[in-house]
Amino acid sequence: MAEANLNNSKLKAQKVLKQYFGYDSFRPQQAEIIETVLKGRDALVLMPTGGGKSVCFQVPALVKEGIALVVSPLIALMKDQVEGLKANGVPAAFLNSSQNDNEQLRVFEAMRTRELKLLYISPEKLLTQQFLSFLQSLQISLIAIDEAHCISAWGHDFRPEYTQLMQLKRLFPQVPVIALTATADKLTRRDIEQQLLLHKPRRFIASFDRPNLSLHVIQGRKRLDSILRFIELRPQTSGIIYCLSRKGTESLASSLQEKGIPAAFYHAGLSANARSRVQQDFINDKVPIICATIAFGMGIDKSNVRWVIHYNMPKNIEGYYQEIGRAGRDSLPSDTLMFYNFGDVIKLRSFAQESGQPELQLAKLDRMQQYAEAKICRRRVLLAYFGEDLGRDCGNCDVCKNPPKYVDGTIIAQKALSAIYRMQEEVPIGTVIDVLRASGKKEILEKGYDKIKTYGAGVEIPFNDWQSYLMQMLNAGLIDIAYDEGNALKLTAASKEVLFNKRDVQLYQPQKAKTPVEAASKPRSRRMELIEGLFEQLRELRKNLAARAGIPPYLVFSDATLQEMSAERPTTELAMRDISGVGDAKLRQYGHIFIEEIISYILEERAKGANIKGSTQLLTFEMLRQGESLQDIARKRGLSAASLYTHLVYLFEQGYPIDLYRYINEEEAHAVEQAIYQSSSDNLTDLYELLEGQIQYDKIRLGVAIWNGKQREMKKS
Ligand code: ADP
Ligand code: ZN
Repeated sequence: MAEANLNNSKLKAQKVLKQYFGYDSFRPQQAEIIETVLKGRDALVLMPTGGGKSVCFQVPALVKEGIALVVSPLIALMKDQVEGLKANGVPAAFLNSSQNDNEQLRVFEAMRTRELKLLYISPEKLLTQQFLSFLQSLQISLIAIDEAHCISAWGHDFRPEYTQLMQLKRLFPQVPVIALTATADKLTRRDIEQQLLLHKPRRFIASFDRPNLSLHVIQGRKRLDSILRFIELRPQTSGIIYCLSRKGTESLASSLQEKGIPAAFYHAGLSANARSRVQQDFINDKVPIICATIAFGMGIDKSNVRWVIHYNMPKNIEGYYQEIGRAGRDSLPSDTLMFYNFGDVIKLRSFAQESGQPELQLAKLDRMQQYAEAKICRRRVLLAYFGEDLGRDCGNCDVCKNPPKYVDGTIIAQKALSAIYRMQEEVPIGTVIDVLRASGKKEILEKGYDKIKTYGAGVEIPFNDWQSYLMQMLNAGLIDIAYDEGNALKLTAASKEVLFNKRDVQLYQPQKAKTPVEAASKPRSRRMELIEGLFEQLRELRKNLAARAGIPPYLVFSDATLQEMSAERPTTELAMRDISGVGDAKLRQYGHIFIEEIISYILEERAKGANIKGSTQLLTFEMLRQGESLQDIARKRGLSAASLYTHLVYLFEQGYPIDLYRYINEEEAHAVEQAIYQSSSDNLTDLYELLEGQIQYDKIRLGVAIWNGKQREMKKS
């Protein structure tokens, strides 16, 4: 493509982004990826969930002639994406096995008549001979392969149909192919490129960091209390609580319900119907909280999940990262919390042992446990696992926020090791602690453990702190654990060095049992309260509009867009258009409804005494709309005529639909205009003198405003 042409399409891409999606600028990499596709080159895009992959093919699809094909394996997501596009005024459709013949025929027809800019399609539909030859009669702008890692048998979501996609490059050698995924190690990446026959693809590998997700790990005790407090601090927000077992999801959901918290449960044991109902209720903001096994989440694109809790430690970091990644797709701050205790580790170890690949699974579990125990920035640990170096501490994890404090642990360690030694290395953690704390339990007395020297040597340390210390010693190799001998603790070579005073031990102070993850909000200012109050109202409005349109609320506007509206309070079309996420179609369809809601909110708050900039003029606007005259308004509010005229000018200039000609006639306006030209000034006193007092000050003010308005119009065109 010639240089001039490319520049032209770059401009067009920028325009499309605002016009259809309502965004002002591309995110890092998006612009380059789009440029690559517009140049006709192939691309491989690795970006984390929520990174903004869709824009990378949706924008070029709108810039280029013809129709874009988007191959996607997940039927539910297809529907969601197409609905999202339609809400933005983009002609798009999908084809998959969920549709009946009639629905499919309608899509074929729309393709034939070249109405569609994007077609989402499942690989099996795409790869029929008939459909492929139909495609050859059309102009294809680009081919996007979403969830491209499905092509690789190395990956975790292998889909055999995907391997047939290599036919595409053979049939359409000139059409650029863009492969996108959120998970792909080096092997999978190479597989994607080779199997899709990508031609000299440009590779875009974004950081996997999700800085908007806070990371918290706390000890797994009194979990229900912690969860209740966590939820109480985040009223009305959507979240997922992952549990290890099906039964766990059910009992947690009912405990929450007992406390009046609307929660549902989800696991693979439910009927397909029940599962889809729970999922829909969650997507549509009808049920905010789902207690689920990891079966939940695939195929959910809900952008306003505000938090994810792991009731139990997950079995590996890949899964953990994917699950917490379901929070905060809209890039707004979101919280993640994981409970961690030793019982879970034991349970997960036995699962791993029974799995087909015990060594691999155990190694992965170890890495997970290291993360849970990390004493350095958790995000660094997480990203290091994926081969990335953050280069600094994140400041948004519990370790960064509460750096661990070290204590001299030599005596503590010696007491524990001595107890283990004196019980012949035959007892598990719990018994060691009971002995150190002189619990007096029956089993202990029966075995005569109350006779050993270290019985009661650690009464001053609480049970949970002992547990933490022993876990630390375990991680530091100072003790070992025999999983095949009832989890008995064993001494190691290092333990002996400690016991014989040849080695010092550093331990860190266990966390205090305080409330986990206070909500981000600081003491709320009046300003914040105003913003949050409006946000609540707009969210309610969004929910109602979505229900009427039969789409999920986040497809009407994202949380991010509603937040910006709440902070900026746009009350004119002009101001509404400036909000990120408000494109042409949504402005047309929803703009006025939201503007009305914002106006009435401002006026209500004003009536309650809030001091909101522009609200006095807004009240004038509202009273005029209700048909009151300037005189009435002046009298009722004790305002001078002059100030109401300045309100009129203000409203007019801000772009409110105000007809100034109701207050000044054409001849008068014309006379003011002439006077401006004559005196080359818009100073009111000058004009008044020039007009020899024929026209009052207030009207001159309106005349000047009309003249200024015309100048602005002229500049624009
Ligand atoms: P992914 O497919 O990578 O998970 P999405 O394409 O769903 O991510 O994008 C995540 C969110 O970010 C969506 O709400 C999307 O509308 C928003 N988004 C994407 N690009 C931009 C941008 N340039 N400016 C603002 N928001 C954007
Ligand atoms: Zn950190």
